[in-house]
Amino acid sequence: MALIVQKYGGTSVADPDRMRAVADHIAFTRSHGDDVVVVVSAMGKSTDNLIKLANEVSDRKPGREMDMLLTTGERISMSLLCMALADRDVDAVSFTGSQVGIITDTAHGKAKILEVRGDRVREALADGKVCVVAGFQGVSTAKEITTLGRGGSDTTAVALAAALGADACEIYTDVTGVFSADPRIVPQAHKLTHINFDEMLEMAGAGSKVLALRSVEFARNHHVPLHVRSSFTWEPGTWVTSEEPSMEDPIISGVVTDASEAKVTVLGVPDRPGVSAALFEPLAAANVNVDMIVQNTSTAGTTDISFTVPLADMAVAEGIVADVAGSIEAAGVSHDNDIAKVSLVGAGMKTSPGIAAKMFRVLADEGVNIQMISTSTIRISVVVASSDLERAARVLHTAFGLDSGQAYSAPLPERR
Ligand code: ASP
Ligand code: MG
Repeated sequence: MALIVQKYGGTSVADPDRMRAVADHIAFTRSHGDDVVVVVSAMGKSTDNLIKLANEVSDRKPGREMDMLLTTGERISMSLLCMALADRDVDAVSFTGSQVGIITDTAHGKAKILEVRGDRVREALADGKVCVVAGFQGVSTAKEITTLGRGGSDTTAVALAAALGADACEIYTDVTGVFSADPRIVPQAHKLTHINFDEMLEMAGAGSKVLALRSVEFARNHHVPLHVRSSFTWEPGTWVTSEEPSMEDPIISGVVTDASEAKVTVLGVPDRPGVSAALFEPLAAANVNVDMIVQNTSTAGTTDISFTVPLADMAVAEGIVADVAGSIEAAGVSHDNDIAKVSLVGAGMKTSPGIAAKMFRVLADEGVNIQMISTSTIRISVVVASSDLERAARVLHTAFGLDSGQAYSAPLPERR
């Protein structure tokens, strides 16, 4: 008998029919004798709607009250789901994050989990009950209700799975798994049967929305195997585990696209110590998430610095950068909102040379201009014009053998 944590996202419980379908699946899992802990998100778009409502009422929206408001979404889901389970003669009990002892820090709106006590879940499981826990929420060390940031129910599920020593954490969503590319952009994209945590982390960091970044970090640190799958088809999805890729696995697992960033360039920056710090410290202090940074070599004592930030942070960044540019006597600032990031991710990159060269050649032959480049050991990202995004993603997907789901094997390095 296994202990399984099942997390159902907003689309999976969006309406009464979905709620009943989910209850059927929980009853089915239960009928195999497994223990089940369920984590639910708010129904459909209800979190967005609560935020809209708050915006209509108030300009200030104190963090504590926002969290009180937003946590109601998950309470609605958990209680309704328990009612649907009762109809199926499944003995189930709902709990808020606070009731199960999800202890967080005090950062309202983006709290971090410090500890999962889980006593009430353990007791209820011992009584033969299914536990349904509200996702995305906890209680702070100051005894206030907190939320974990958008998409935070994934993190709740993984944290509970880790604390309870669950055998697996199933993340049910509206897609059938993790794909080799976004199928809306690359129609030939295929579902991956498995991927490792490092690759999934890079994919999430590169803009893939399938799993919240923090939940993957948590799963990796606590060795919780994840199974991302669909609550609409119930077919097997993608396993995310710590397993290193084998020789037969493709070098590149996926092409990730992200059109949610903008580029800022500070022109004619004096080339002296402290200039970059002067620029990026105030951005960090304002919580602007700077992603790629490129500094040119200087000519005649000045240089250009370009970096990307989320489009959503652009308004804040713009003001700060204009101020700093003035004080460090830069020549000027320019912005480009029409950019996109295309990344190749694959654990096999570590051991096979020439991936970057091949990527740049493929893009060059397609006439795609590369504006910026950044790399990690298992990722290469480039910034291109947003009008080039689709083309770039498709040709890379093809060139690296992902269309057919076949491995791209690099030419063997020459013997020395
Ligand atoms: N309901 C929250 C949100 O929409 C948490 C989640 O869905 O994971 O962000
Ligand atoms: Mg959600």
